[in-house]
Amino acid sequence: MFHKIFDSLLTLAYPQACQACDNSVENSADGIACRLCWKKTNIFSGAEILCAKCGAFLQAKSSNFQTFCHRCDGHFYDSARAVGIYDHALAASVLHLKREPFVAQNLRKLFLSRFQNSEFQNVALIVPVPLSKKRFLERGFNQAAVLSKILAKQSGIKLDEHSLVRQTDTPMHRVGMDGKARAVSVENAFDVKRPKFVEGAKVLLIDDVFTSGATVSNCAKVLKKSGATKVYVFTLAKTL
Ligand SMILES: [Zn+2]
Ligand SMILES: [Zn+2]
Repeated sequence: MFHKIFDSLLTLAYPQACQACDNSVENSADGIACRLCWKKTNIFSGAEILCAKCGAFLQAKSSNFQTFCHRCDGHFYDSARAVGIYDHALAASVLHLKREPFVAQNLRKLFLSRFQNSEFQNVALIVPVPLSKKRFLERGFNQAAVLSKILAKQSGIKLDEHSLVRQTDTPMHRVGMDGKARAVSVENAFDVKRPKFVEGAKVLLIDDVFTSGATVSNCAKVLKKSGATKVYVFTLAKTL
């Protein structure tokens, strides 16, 4: 009901300015970016070469060999995939999702179809990367939980928003913060409050954007310490 009202309010508000280029967005299904910006956005088709572990974009042409970027060798998750590259319409949509708990129809479709074409469908639990209590109160919602709910509803896979917690308020990841600084800022930030819920389970971690991988790797570390057998990561976007 709420979504229906919200959708029609959005429809009334269109056309609105594209948040990636300032042209106008004609179609509410495109959300906050125009058709042209969506066309420019690199949405993964499955034909490109991605790092078999972290999903980093390596080459446009496909190959039959597994390829690794090796920057992710020390990460604790098993594999990570994203809808596309953090750029143009996808970057604008990720930024918007930090302000409003809303995912437009076309992006929702891309997110679900990427999941359906992934190897993540046999997971037992969908777990959003948590915010600290402080950040949650400031923002009013967790954007990773918004995405997790969409996926759980569509797939029927159980959503667990309470087992994994962020116990310290780590500084926001800023542009210019290098890999090392990011890694230090999220080390020991996470904890599993209800280990019996994740014990023996394959877990799918959800976040809005995969940057250095330090956050999701630290989440995976504590989930595995609590007995999760596999930890996969699924995000809207992957930075280059
Ligand atoms: Zn645009
Ligand atoms: Zn990698």
